[in-house]
Amino acid sequence: MQLTHVAILPSPGLGHLIPLFELAKRLVVHHGIHVSFLVINTNEATTAQDQLLRSPTLPPGLEVVDLPLVDVSAITTDDITMLARLCVIAEESLKSLRSVLIGLALGKPNALVIDLFCTQAFQVCNDLSIPTYSFFTPSVTFLAFSLYLPTLDREVEGEFIDLPEPIAIPGCSPVRPGDLVDQVRNRKIDEYKWCLFHLSRLPLAAGIFLNSWEDLEPVSLKTIREHPFYLQIPTPPVYPIGPLIKQDEELTISDKEYLAWLDKQPPDSVLFVAHGSGGTLSSEQLTEMAWGLELSKQRFLWVIRTPRFLEKTQGVGMVVPSWAQQATVVRHPSTGGFLSHCGWNSSLDSVSNGVPMIAWPLYAEQKMNASLLTEEIGVAVKPVKGPGKKVIGREEINRVVRLVMESEEGKVMRHKVKQLGHSASRALETGGSSFDSLACVVKKWKGNQ
Ligand code: UDP
Repeated sequence: MQLTHVAILPSPGLGHLIPLFELAKRLVVHHGIHVSFLVINTNEATTAQDQLLRSPTLPPGLEVVDLPLVDVSAITTDDITMLARLCVIAEESLKSLRSVLIGLALGKPNALVIDLFCTQAFQVCNDLSIPTYSFFTPSVTFLAFSLYLPTLDREVEGEFIDLPEPIAIPGCSPVRPGDLVDQVRNRKIDEYKWCLFHLSRLPLAAGIFLNSWEDLEPVSLKTIREHPFYLQIPTPPVYPIGPLIKQDEELTISDKEYLAWLDKQPPDSVLFVAHGSGGTLSSEQLTEMAWGLELSKQRFLWVIRTPRFLEKTQGVGMVVPSWAQQATVVRHPSTGGFLSHCGWNSSLDSVSNGVPMIAWPLYAEQKMNASLLTEEIGVAVKPVKGPGKKVIGREEINRVVRLVMESEEGKVMRHKVKQLGHSASRALETGGSSFDSLACVVKKWKGNQ
């Protein structure tokens, strides 16, 4: 039988690499596909990325292929935002895509799956007759927003953030201008133009994979399937195949230390505090956080990039410098709450493991995720900053931590999120909705040879 070979192309950054790498593993292990995982490389150090991609335990059939190195020394962040920089790097790297695809050891792939900021691939694959699918890493709700952005761009004059009312978008609850994704808050800068460029090309995909599942965001899914977002181009079929979260993590000696500490704590008793791969807090906010955690008298495990503030809290807490094996921690039976920046991967880590959240959004589309998790799905609570305050105060932190960890309201939230966690596991099992959704596309790929 002829081998089915699929190439996968993530954008740079762990929030993109992690879910697409999980997709690669699932295709290989559950569906007998061979995968070439194409990695955009720069001359910057990437320890966590290397740990992920160079693991000795990758399944046979999954090959990591490095695209030629992009020299980023000339692309500084002084005159360009993070996302615009990422898009410039991807564009530069994808100049080699045609020759890389033709030269793959397993031959030209039967399909290419691309991430959000790699849409230059559509043209290349069109020329090579390779069907191209998108993998949308944020929420389904955010996909509805993204599909509607070109319409907003046409119809709204001035800045979206100056609109007096929440913005009505098919498939989303009305979006408060204050919750808008960072990249659309100033329409004059490059970041917005890049965002609009890539998002408006979503309909060019043969299908859109979603890192979500049927039960988590049913209203947005239904709307996307039924609403005509574009006049002439139909929205491609959408395939919820998640939650794809990190499964196996390689543990260092320091990982084993905090996990041993977690092993000794009672079930659901520890609050995990982490802000994603790029989030930081001001020193004033860090001080309030340390005080708030101390006042709450709850156990906690805190991933922090500047751990010098922490003498105060050592009695019931544990501090991990810079990076923890988050999926392993959130999955641990002692973890009972997650104070998170609400990146979509972190939100999935939490919900699929039945862990209620404290929503602490920082950047990108995290404010929209926080509203979705608190107001619609009902598995998170959001602390309030208070009028005129620069930071969230210790008393408020104390309040939300206790609410999640020990109140009756917290118990209701915990019950709800545990049910969603079970539904996530069912979706991924053989015969579950996400499993079948992926199997349906795999069947097309296998039939197309
Ligand atoms: N992550 C981790 N350890 C950390 C911080 C993050 O393993 O200390 C992982 C986390 O499990 C998730 C990803 O990094 O898969 C972060 O993605 P997310 O979308 O939550 O946020 P981003 O970092 O992209 O803002």
